[in-house]
Amino acid sequence: MDIDWKNLGFGYTKTDYRYVSNFKDGMWDKGSITEDANVVLNECACVFQYAQTCFEGLKAYRTADNKVVCFRPDMNAKRMIESAKRLEMPPFPEDRFIEAVKKVVKANIDWVPPYGSGATLYIRPYMFGTNPVMGVKPATEYQFRIFVAPVGPYFKGGAKPITLRVPDFDRAAPHGTGHVKAGLNYAMSLHAIVDAHNQGYDENMYLDSATRTKVEETGGANIIFVTKDNKVVTPKSNTILPSITRRSLMYVAQKYLGLETEEREIYKEELAEFKECALCGTAAVLSPVGKVVDHGKEICFPSGMEKVGEITQKLYDTLTGIQMGRIEAPEGWIVEV
Ligand SMILES: *Cc1c(COP(=O)(O)O)cnc(C)c1O
Repeated sequence: MDIDWKNLGFGYTKTDYRYVSNFKDGMWDKGSITEDANVVLNECACVFQYAQTCFEGLKAYRTADNKVVCFRPDMNAKRMIESAKRLEMPPFPEDRFIEAVKKVVKANIDWVPPYGSGATLYIRPYMFGTNPVMGVKPATEYQFRIFVAPVGPYFKGGAKPITLRVPDFDRAAPHGTGHVKAGLNYAMSLHAIVDAHNQGYDENMYLDSATRTKVEETGGANIIFVTKDNKVVTPKSNTILPSITRRSLMYVAQKYLGLETEEREIYKEELAEFKECALCGTAAVLSPVGKVVDHGKEICFPSGMEKVGEITQKLYDTLTGIQMGRIEAPEGWIVEV
């Protein structure tokens, strides 16, 4: 395999194998590994007409002692069950999800980037309604798939701080689907992200759609802040996606770094009082934010546009240390494939 692991970006590469299971007559079949990367569906499949689909994202890592591990796949399995329920789709069982993840990573083991390369194997489980549906109702047949692709950093420039802007668009459909990991929320964010990029910003910092005063998250990552007295705070909201990376970082801050943490409502007006800001997610890992631009008004965090803040760096080093096997993990966080 001829891959320049160190210069990989965050993108799709067609790897050798994927996992497929079909739901029909009220049950999931036993599932299998296939080489076929294409999905052929009826023109009226529910996923095309009514966007009945949800997904997950996690990673496999090669550790210092050359094992291949996944980070908290049980959490992704549980969250996908919640997403499926909200979209009237049949949940894919947690134990089968974890088995399928292991199977597809094993089948593509040569695609897991080497330890220390900076790249990892991204794992994408997803599910969609497959049978034709004209009237507005859920499908009765579904497909669950998992593909994998080696990826590098989500934001070009690696550890360089990024700039967010406060957009006039809402991220999620306003009828309470913001906590669901589904293409529907991403579809509604595409215009905002293209517009942000056209204006030179890396991402959008979305506000709550009800009052537009509180910080929610970005398109595909949650946000954490560090106060001047080193407390790690993150927005409390039931219209944002419950990031597994964020929940893990809050635990790391408390138990590994001895920092105070708090999940609370965070108002846009208090942004200038924070010392550090970063985006967190499986893809973003922990990406420092140097600046937020709110309709011409610049809020610059003291850590600046060149350096990574001190607490952000410690959180990053500890989390990635746990993921790559350099630091002992809490019980159940690391699953060998
Ligand atoms: C996936 C996702 C995140 C990050 O969640 P992780 O579990 O940490 O990967 C954050 N926000 C949105 C909207 C997402 O879809």
